[in-house]
Amino acid sequence: MNVRVLIDGPSELVFDYAVPQGLHVSAGCRVRVPLRRKSATGTVLCVVDEAPMDFALRQLECLMDPEPLITPVLLRTGQWIADYYGCGIETVIRSLLPEAVRSEQNSAKTRRIARLDSAPDPEMLAKLAKRAPRQHAILLQLAEAPGYSLPLTDLGDGSSAAIKTMEKSGLLWLETEAVRRDPEADGSEEVLESRALTLNADQQHALDAILASLESPVSKPFLLLGVTGSGKTEVYLQAASHVLHLGKTVLVLVPEISLTPQTVRRFKARFAGIQEQVAVLHSNLSQGERFDEWHRIRTGVARIVIGARSAVFAPLPDLGLILVDEEHENTYKQENVPRYHGRDVAVLRAAFENCPIVLGSATPSLESWHNTQSGKYTLLRLDERADSQSMPLVRIVDMRLEAAKHKGAPSILSDKLRVALEQRLEKGEQCILFLNRRGFARSLQCPKCGHVCQCPHCSVALTYHRTDERLVCHVCGHQAIVPRKCPSCRDPSIILQGYGTQKVEELLAKVLPKAKIARIDADAMRRKHALRDTLNAFKSHKIDILIGTQMIAKGLHFPNVTLVGILNADLSLHVPDFRAGERTFQLITQVAGRAGRGKLEGEVIVQTFTPHSPSIQYARQHDFDGFSEQEMEFRRQYGFPPFAHCAVLTARSNHERRAEFSLQTLLLRLKENLPPGLTLGEVLPSPLLRAHGQHRFQILLRSSRARPLTRHVQAVLDRTPLPEDVTVVFDMDALNFS
Ligand code: ADP
Ligand code: ZN
Repeated sequence: MNVRVLIDGPSELVFDYAVPQGLHVSAGCRVRVPLRRKSATGTVLCVVDEAPMDFALRQLECLMDPEPLITPVLLRTGQWIADYYGCGIETVIRSLLPEAVRSEQNSAKTRRIARLDSAPDPEMLAKLAKRAPRQHAILLQLAEAPGYSLPLTDLGDGSSAAIKTMEKSGLLWLETEAVRRDPEADGSEEVLESRALTLNADQQHALDAILASLESPVSKPFLLLGVTGSGKTEVYLQAASHVLHLGKTVLVLVPEISLTPQTVRRFKARFAGIQEQVAVLHSNLSQGERFDEWHRIRTGVARIVIGARSAVFAPLPDLGLILVDEEHENTYKQENVPRYHGRDVAVLRAAFENCPIVLGSATPSLESWHNTQSGKYTLLRLDERADSQSMPLVRIVDMRLEAAKHKGAPSILSDKLRVALEQRLEKGEQCILFLNRRGFARSLQCPKCGHVCQCPHCSVALTYHRTDERLVCHVCGHQAIVPRKCPSCRDPSIILQGYGTQKVEELLAKVLPKAKIARIDADAMRRKHALRDTLNAFKSHKIDILIGTQMIAKGLHFPNVTLVGILNADLSLHVPDFRAGERTFQLITQVAGRAGRGKLEGEVIVQTFTPHSPSIQYARQHDFDGFSEQEMEFRRQYGFPPFAHCAVLTARSNHERRAEFSLQTLLLRLKENLPPGLTLGEVLPSPLLRAHGQHRFQILLRSSRARPLTRHVQAVLDRTPLPEDVTVVFDMDALNFS
């Protein structure tokens, strides 16, 4: 048997080795191998075929631990990912086992401690007090310490001789103890324990269904569809608490740790009594902290794990429940190899672990929604806000009229929104302004009538290409000339639109000079803790108006916010992506959900050039059912997900022609022996034409079934040699078409 080994160290070398007779080696085993004239440590990525070779492989030296680092279920999950997303198992294992765990440089941090078995004998103490005052002092210190033990460093300088003597005469024990590098140790805020709330009828029904499935031998995934503020989190918390009481463990996935501080805090608060048992996996952990957290999870010390996408691989033993919050979020999809979807992998892992999984959202993805309709998932609903607040009132402002008022120049702030802001400031209430800023592709829009040029075949917005002045459909390749006048109303001022948060901030400062304004976007939040600090300042009302991008759309809860403005609701609607409508609906609904979460009623003002678009109208009515019904019809009609799987094959190169030509070659090969149900698009320039100096071209593939698609592409890639300077990337179930 031969195995492929990833050598520890920064250069990430991978070599194959032969396994000596009688040694049981599997993926995830830590091994020692010969490397050049030395020996090195590494991790087994996979077993490889014994292909005939003209040289003999070197043999492994030995196994470093008897057990592999990967549990059988995770290995099975990894194999599924490799097969489904069309990537090598070794790349999956690599991301499944964090480098901090694989590398030998990291190991448990330890310290020496002195310990007593029991309280010291008073006679002995009295004796020592006279004869050996130093030993007497040490014994007293230990007698008062919790567990009668203290690290040697706490026993004072110059005690070492005395301690040695005491150990020899059997007065105390010296031991080595592992020390946890606690990521929360550095003065993070204290959390007060929260108590379970009395659930309302809908919440109780959802919780009962989840708990009942704990006892059933097979359980279907749950989709928890609850309007913003309906108390989904409370249901998660109580389900988790129940599972912990059964002695099992819980995995909680959130879109991004840094953007969901309130959700994380609520989990910590509920389980504050057992703080040690909560592990929060985020990208700021040091290697040492990551190592410790991983081992705390693996050994069952940390029994509730909260993390983003990659936490789906947390090695929790005896998993009893998986929760996926905001399951519709794009951040669950990894944008480099292996390009897995964290939510979908979680569903699979739950099936392998035979434990319930709850996917929660106010705006579920149509993929998950489709699964409830086909009976694959069980639907649970919370249709009312939990604190008996009504849903906020959503008003639509027609920006075409605003543009007309200001002689064609589109304004950023409508009169209605400006007046509403002034009123809130007078009343001492707070506001959030949201700027939709998505995608690189640009579409043309008429400021007078709101018209956007669409592909006649695919019903997605055509993308404007500046270089050759064309409009192109990024699904089918349809091309059109750039109109001089609006094709609908003949107005000549058809334009490309866009402005940033910074510009909004400047404008607001002029219009509302007394307001305290802060901005949250990727640029403003570079500094560590900047986001947390800004949110805290907003919470304590040191800020009146918060301006932000997508970053503020997620689970924030500020009771004093009564007005939310969405400045340009259209922007996500006219990107060349069949999910444009879904994203816009989700964004408006989520952002609107930030308003009126306290005693005061909330209002939402949505500025748009296309007030009649269904995504905007349904979001206004908080009507997911209505939206999904019409959107599903569109997807069915044009053959988009969830009625087909959609993948993108992208070629990148510094040489434009070579990238395009390579993809043309691949397309020809893909057309041979095409499996039934698979359709191929044209070779097209990507909406994001150039990135990092590389030219990009893409083909869109669609198939009724997933595996034949992946296997067909994989087979073609395997037998098609490509120029060295061309990189080809396959993205199965792609969410990003740029
Ligand atoms: P979601 O996660 O669905 O957005 P939350 O869990 O944040 O909703 O709940 C919104 C608010 O309602 C929170 O302040 C929460 O404390 C409160 N809440 C949730 N469940 C109940 C309940 N059963 N009774 C009273 N208040 C509740
Ligand atoms: Zn088209």
